[in-house]
Parts: sequence; C-alpha cells; structure tokens
Amino acid sequence: MTNYDAIILGTGQAGPSLAGRLAGAGKKVAIVERKYFGGTCVNTGCIPTKALVASAYAAHLAQRATDYGVVVNGAIRTDMKAVKARKDAISGQSRIGVESWLKGMQNCTVYQSHARFESRNEIRVGSELLCSDLIFINVGGRAVVPSLPGVNEVPYLTNSSMMAVDFLPRHLVIVGGSYIGLEFGQMFRRFGSGVTILEMGPHLIGREDEDVSKAIEEIMVQEGINVRLNSKCIGFSPHSDGVRVTAECADGSPEVIGSHVLLAVGRRPNTDDLGLEKAGVATDHRGYIVVDEQLRTNVPGIWALGDCNGRGAFTHTAYNDYEIVAANLLDSDSRRVSDRITAYNLYIDPPLGRAGLTETEARKSTRNLLIGQRPMTRVARAVEKGETNGFIKILVDGDSKQILGAAILGTGGDEVIHCLLDLMYAKAPYTVMQRAMHIHPTVAELLPTILEELKPATSMAPNSTLAA
Ligand SMILES: Cc1cc2nc3c(=O)[nH]c(=O)nc-3n(C[C@H](O)[C@H](O)[C@H](O)COP(=O)(O)OP(=O)(O)OC[C@H]3O[C@@H](n4cnc5c(N)ncnc54)[C@H](O)[C@@H]3O)c2cc1C
Repeated sequence: MTNYDAIILGTGQAGPSLAGRLAGAGKKVAIVERKYFGGTCVNTGCIPTKALVASAYAAHLAQRATDYGVVVNGAIRTDMKAVKARKDAISGQSRIGVESWLKGMQNCTVYQSHARFESRNEIRVGSELLCSDLIFINVGGRAVVPSLPGVNEVPYLTNSSMMAVDFLPRHLVIVGGSYIGLEFGQMFRRFGSGVTILEMGPHLIGREDEDVSKAIEEIMVQEGINVRLNSKCIGFSPHSDGVRVTAECADGSPEVIGSHVLLAVGRRPNTDDLGLEKAGVATDHRGYIVVDEQLRTNVPGIWALGDCNGRGAFTHTAYNDYEIVAANLLDSDSRRVSDRITAYNLYIDPPLGRAGLTETEARKSTRNLLIGQRPMTRVARAVEKGETNGFIKILVDGDSKQILGAAILGTGGDEVIHCLLDLMYAKAPYTVMQRAMHIHPTVAELLPTILEELKPATSMAPNSTLAA
C-alpha cells in the first residue's frame, strides 16, 4: 500500500489543475487515468469537434465563394482523411501537453490504469493499493446507448467512435437533436454527407426557448439537413444500404435508410465501475455523485468534480469545480457552485451563445421582465460578413436593472455573450453598458442599442423574437 496526501481519479478538466495546485502546495499526490490524458474534452469532445467544425466552416465558405466575388476553379470537395489528420493533430497536441505536464510534475505520481474504491480511503489501481484521506473523483461521462429496439443489431457511432471517421458517410442518420447531434449534423452536411436528424421531442435543442430552437431548425433545413421532430418510436434494423431507422413521426416517411447512424441522445456518468458502494459514496438515480455546494460527497474526505457530479456538463463547469475545491481547501475562500451563472455555447454556424435564464424561465418568475431583441439582419457586421442568420435576445429585470439572461444566435455569438456574462457577474445594472463606447463594426456594438429598446414582456407574445 502506498500512502498519498491526495488521490485524484481521472485527468479530465478538473483533475490535472487540482493536481498542480495540491502538488505545488507540497502535497504528495497520485493521479490515475485509465485511457486518454485530458479526458473527453481533449480527445472526443470540445477540442476535436471544434477542429472539425472549423473544417466544415471552410468547406461551407468555399461553397459560398461566389457570394463574396471569389472564383474557385474546379469542384470543391472535402478530403476527409486530411480533415481527420488536422483534428487528430490538434487534439493530440493537447493530450500530449496534459500527459507531459502531469508526468513532469514534482510531488505527483501518475498511474495509468482503471481506479476503483476498496474502501473510503483506499483505491485499487491494477495490483497496487493507494491510500489517502483526500480523494477527488473526476471520472467524467460517456455517451448513452439507448435501449431502443434493434440498437444492438446494427453498427452505430457515438461521439467517441466518430473520431475515427476518415470517410464521408453517404447518409448519416443522427438520433438526437441537441448540442452534440446538431454540431455533428451540420458539420457532416457541410463535408458533403446527406444528414437526417431524428429528434424525439417537438423541438430541436429542447431546453432552449422555442424561438431559438425554431431558428436553429431553419438554419439546419436551409443547409439541406432533413430534420424529423416528434420521432417517438425509433428502432433499427440492418439494411442492404446500411441501416434502416424507423421513426414514427407526425409527418414524413416512417423510415430512413442511412449508411451510418450516430447516437447522440445524452451522456451518463462513469460511476458504475468505480466501486463507490465500498466507500459508501451516494449517487442519485442516474448515477451522478451527490455533492454539496463545495462539491463534497456524503463521505468526508471525498469530493466529486466535473460531469460525474451532475452539476454541470461542460469543460468550463468542470474547471470551475476545480477552482471551487482549490479555493475552499487551499485559499480559505468559500466559493460555491451556486455562485456560477449558467453559460454555454452551441457550436453550430452561426453559434449560439447562452447566459443565465431563458425567456421561458424568466417569464415563470414574478419579475418585471423586459426584453430587448434584434435580428442579425439588422447588425451591420453580420451583413458585411454575409452571415445574417439568427438574432440577439436580452432579458432584463426592470426593477434591479440587472441582466437576467441572453441568447445570441449569430455570427460571433459565442464570444459576444461574454460582454453580458461579465456584467451579470458584476451584478451591474445594464445602464453601465450604455455608457460604454463599443467598437465599430462589431456585433457587440449593438448590445447598448438593444438595451435602449427594451420592451415589457407583457407587451409581447412569449418567444416571439423571430417575428420581431
Ligand atoms: C462531442 C462533445 C462535444 C463537446 N463540446 C463541448 C464544448 O464545446 N464545450 C464544453 O464546454 N464542453 C463540451 N463538451 C463537454 C465536455 O467535454 C465535458 O463536459 C468535459 O470534458 C467534462 O470534463 P470532466 O473533467 O468532468 O471529465 P472527462 O473530461 O470526461 O474526464 C474524465 C477522465 O476520467 C477517466 N476515468 C474515468 N473513469 C476512470 C477510472 N475508473 N479510473 C481512472 N480514470 C478514469 C476518463 O478516462 C477520462 O479521461 C463536449 C462533449 C462531447 C461529448
């Protein structure tokens, strides 16, 4: 048995930084990784998908070259082997960076194997037993494979196996019309595949406001993606051309024949093979580790960070978990999960930047809600770039004058959202932004103008931005 001051399970978005802080504070640290250094984000999530999104954007712009007066001689096609090689190089560089950082870290021992609890302070790693009074679980999650009829009779792809695709699927059928499904869908359509997205619910990306999901649906359809909503009874069977996917939809053909199927119906935590029961660590009914505001589990000395605690599902929430734990343990700074404001992006083109409440959520409160909005057709920078899809919507509390939330679906929306997010963290009234001189021409320069034109929510139909 080897004793450590701290043991960290997983090298995702929280573990390595925590190892760095603890080791830097003179603690003897062990960190265990069973597969790829850097976890989901680096290997099968954010980084490789955003590299692919960039290739897809280049393909799309090349197709639209004449719109900009640029002449391309000859057919435009995608070299999928080169696309994958670019993605692999970017992701690989990041993975190697995490690995060499950890392996070169003073006071830190790296174990490359599956970790499992033997007791509340013992971790089995292969033939070795590690012991510590401080254990940090950062094991992340993986794609859900839904128990739909026939799913095990056909080959299917997940976000992980998609990373090996170096060819153009003739027709990619994507089950799930949320973040992961939409990003892969638009990207492969732009590479040249036929794409069908089957969504079980009545809207794409169902947790967003209806005007947002409707606008996203229009963007997908505009690009030739077949979007099938209300696909209630999805089932699979082998077909001579690939896979037959049945979908009992409100309209359209009841089946789709795809060359390939991607399952993008959600994620589940990697907590089922950790031996949590031996440590007595409590999970909820979906397997997420139950934590308090400082990310402590029910067992003293054991914390859970990142996707496995169900308090976030993003790289920035996992990293923020690290910051919260480090602040509490090492800096006597009582940071809490509830200090953070919901914020995330959807990386379709144009991207969706989101912060705070949705309009639907805000309308449920008794606040004096004000709404400002503007279509991207009335944003000069978007017009100049020839990218006018989408809109900006900002929600304000009319009494406190604080920003409650925003959705920016449009060119640059993934960056512009931070103007509002920072104002929200500052708890500053929106009027502060109106005194700021913004730079022309940008998307952000219109934010003060939108705030000038706020209207009472009671004077508008809910989620009516598209009609604006
Ligand atoms: C396709 C896709 C695109 C995404 N895009 C974005 C994006 O653009 N922006 C964003 O913010 N988020 C994005 N995400 C989400 C983001 O990747 C995750 O939220 C983030 O990686 C979670 O980090 P984590 O540290 O919790 O876990 P992970 O990054 O999953 O790391 C967990 C690590 O623990 C290891 N592990 C698991 N069990 C054990 C064990 N028993 N023993 C040892 N090691 C173990 C795993 O191998 C893994 O390396 C995306 C996800 C996917 C799937």
